[in-house]
Amino acid sequence: MTAVMPALAIIGSGPAGYTAAIYAARANLAPVLFTGRQAGGQLTTTTEVENFPGFPEGIMGPELMTRFEQQATRFGTVVRQGCEIMSVVKTDAGFELKINDLYQGTETVEIYHAVIVATGASARYLGLPGEAEFLDGTGKKTGLTACATCDGAFYKNVEVAVVGGGDTACEEANFLTKFASKVYLLHRRTELRASKVMAARALANPKITPVWNVTLGGYQTDAKGKLESVTLLDTVNGSQRPLAVKGVFMAIGHTPNTSFVKATGVKLDADGYIDVEHGCKTNIDGLFAAGDVRDHHYRQAISAAGMGCMAALEAERWLAAKGLA
Ligand code: FAD
Ligand code: NAP
Repeated sequence: MTAVMPALAIIGSGPAGYTAAIYAARANLAPVLFTGRQAGGQLTTTTEVENFPGFPEGIMGPELMTRFEQQATRFGTVVRQGCEIMSVVKTDAGFELKINDLYQGTETVEIYHAVIVATGASARYLGLPGEAEFLDGTGKKTGLTACATCDGAFYKNVEVAVVGGGDTACEEANFLTKFASKVYLLHRRTELRASKVMAARALANPKITPVWNVTLGGYQTDAKGKLESVTLLDTVNGSQRPLAVKGVFMAIGHTPNTSFVKATGVKLDADGYIDVEHGCKTNIDGLFAAGDVRDHHYRQAISAAGMGCMAALEAERWLAAKGLA
């Protein structure tokens, strides 16, 4: 069944989506926010967030996101938990959203005048042979994961590896030293991409051993399908060698979640991020984008939140100018 719904849909429940919701709700737009599969977004996969202003002692990622949600609902945001948007199509009536309700097991279509896309980005894997089958979403079962906070505790007193050289890799490696006996930080160059403070912290940790100029060439498992070792590929001379580890934590960046919105004709850049024209406006009238889904440069909670604010203000003005709110 197709029903005409409130003016504004916000897709995504990370810092961008919830901030957009706070502003839109305070403007009496009664926005509807779809959380997607990862309620609270990327910060729910981390421990302490030390750089979000207003929390001088730091705050745990999941707690911060609960506070975002509380603030959004306080002003009248309708939060649709477990609802994933499968496609967005622009029609004469507005934006047609196909909604998959993961809890109810239903698929419905709703129409909104304006949409803010705040669907962030998802962890990237290497795409090695067999990797897809290896991934069951729980590092406990197989040994391959992209979330140390979620799965680190399954690796007590064993050796593990983190792949990548950015902030995530350093943070994951540090966190894993609480559990693992040794953490190899596998990086394809000799210089970490991570911020100075994060890199220094990782390199100073006696339980972390950096391995430079390597990437992964394959995974070897035992009879039960659990990880036993990986093949290290030397990025300088192409040689290979094994490394015995029980867990691999992938931290090689993220892919923007934009496939579901392509049918609108929204402009994407070469890496699949939404191209914004001015502020948070896209090339499609009434479609706005905020946060990591349109930003591969800053990728921070505070910048995502700032863009959520901008998108909501722009959507509000757009709706008012059209007489739709
Ligand atoms: P996200 O947080 O990625 O949220 C995207 C949302 O969209 C999710 O709720 C998801 O369920 C939803 N979604 C996706 N597809 C759909 C769909 N089809 N339908 C409906 N919903 C959908 N930044 C900092 O500033 N400080 C830190 O300390 C910090 N630590 C980090 C630690 C880790 C391990 C990681 C991975 C990132 C960290 N970051 C940190 C970066 C920060 O988390 C991101 O910049 C921020 O979360 C981006 O917010 P966002 O709202 O754009 O998207
Ligand atoms: P990132 O900065 O893009 O780093 C990805 C790392 O993976 C890079 O070191 C990259 O190597 C490596 N890599 C990429 N593809 C690879 C491949 N195919 N094989 C091997 N290695 C590969 O991603 P991120 O670390 O997830 O960080 C994303 C954003 O979130 C950043 O803006 C970061 O600042 C932010 N963040 C912040 C915090 C914090 O402030 N506490 C914590 C986590 C994340 P190269 O360096 O050679 O390109």
